[in-house]
Amino acid sequence: MDLGIGKKERRRKDREEKQMIRCLCAVLYLFIVLNFLGVSLDFGTEEKMHYHDAGMVREAVSKRVLDKDAGKVMPDIPDKESDDISGKESDDVPGKESDEETGETAEYADGPKRIALTFDDGPNVACTGRLLDGLKKRNVRATFFVIGKNVRANPKLTKRIYEEGHMIGNHTYSHIDMSKVSEGKAEKELKKTSRTVHAITGEYPQYMRPPYGVCSKKLEDSLDMLLVRWTIDPLDWKSENTDDIVKKVVTKAEENDIILLHDCYNTSVDAAFKIIDILQKKGFAFVTVDELFLD
Ligand code: ZN
Repeated sequence: MDLGIGKKERRRKDREEKQMIRCLCAVLYLFIVLNFLGVSLDFGTEEKMHYHDAGMVREAVSKRVLDKDAGKVMPDIPDKESDDISGKESDDVPGKESDEETGETAEYADGPKRIALTFDDGPNVACTGRLLDGLKKRNVRATFFVIGKNVRANPKLTKRIYEEGHMIGNHTYSHIDMSKVSEGKAEKELKKTSRTVHAITGEYPQYMRPPYGVCSKKLEDSLDMLLVRWTIDPLDWKSENTDDIVKKVVTKAEENDIILLHDCYNTSVDAAFKIIDILQKKGFAFVTVDELFLD
């Protein structure tokens, strides 16, 4: 009996010893793995610092652009866009990094970063109402550059845009290319649109956006409205692809940007909602164009 117990005891001890050795091996293995991970984590820190610096640079660039514009129109849009392209393509990496980058930028912001959503070519019976519903739900105000004849065809929608606090701008009466008509004709198109908007809202538009962004300097100077172009154009009318539009906007968006969309495509309306949801989480506040210029 005693001998049997002794054997069992030895076997138990042998098992314990083997377990101990396995444990030591496991700890050693874990140590090696952790060392490995440690090297990766170091890379992560370097990457964060890189984006941290990029965020600071962008903050400075945004401030410079705002100072330069000094609340007026943006004669330097092409420069800014080319800055964007050269600056971003070098360090813009989709996915995880861009989230980190935004987090870092937000740390340096004094308040929410302001940005404007603009919608051209409406009001549109199939899309504008749904867009207004979604904007109201998200407590966002936007800017609508309306076509005069669409205003005439959709007075209730126009009134709703105005009453819900959005800004209404002039986009000519029949979407003419102002570089291809006489200045007299272009002026008539703008005035007719302003009168049509005024008849519904009681206010004349203070801002205008020429179709295709084309307007002679002479005509621009003679207008009693400020000309507004844009800084981000995802070509929503061309792709009619919601995800593509969203990606193009959110990867480029910076403080004081003016985003161009069209409220006559449901894909653009869906994209607008996604853009708002993503950028609000990243610390952006949506304002109208006049708020962006004047405040
Ligand atoms: Zn247009």
